Amino acid sequence: MEYYSSHISKLIEELGRLPGIGPKSAQRLAFHIVNMPREQVAALSGAIQEAKEHVRYCGICCTLTDQEICPICSNPSRNQGKIMVVENSRDLAAYEKTGKYDGVYHVLHGAISPMLGIGPDDIKLKELMRRLQGEVEEVIIATNSSLEGETTAMYISKLIKPTGIRVTRIASGVPVGGDLEYIDEVTLLRALEGRVEL
Ligand code: ZN
Repeated sequence: MEYYSSHISKLIEELGRLPGIGPKSAQRLAFHIVNMPREQVAALSGAIQEAKEHVRYCGICCTLTDQEICPICSNPSRNQGKIMVVENSRDLAAYEKTGKYDGVYHVLHGAISPMLGIGPDDIKLKELMRRLQGEVEEVIIATNSSLEGETTAMYISKLIKPTGIRVTRIASGVPVGGDLEYIDEVTLLRALEGRVEL
């Protein structure tokens, strides 16, 4: 790292903290950035800061939004009694793209993983349980079919069962270990339609 100016080293170090960016990619990006026109660099850093400043968790479903309450939760034509639980906002977007789901969501921002030391308190579970005190008829668990996703699904279903609220799990049309966001719409819809009681 000492071959570079300290400013470049710092940029490489910061970029290298991003997910999926290894040391080589970080170097490539850093050199690309310092060679970019000044205005473009300003636009990039401005967009990052603006996003961080204005994006927050929806007060109801915890998805990332610019508003206090996200457009889905504040849409009166959505069925507020049907809550689909997903791991992240990208999974929510995948289901939204199908245009066929009329309920609302709950975004956990992660999944339980004893191996990585991520427990129930590290994801937005308390927020989900609080919502269940309202009028909810069904909770559809649509976490990924990875070990973490399945562990989370089991945990949530055990928590909800005593409340008498119907708990379902999307069908296994979703390939094992598959991330929801990479699955095509037809498969997503089939998984939703074929959901099973837990
Ligand atoms: Zn919301």
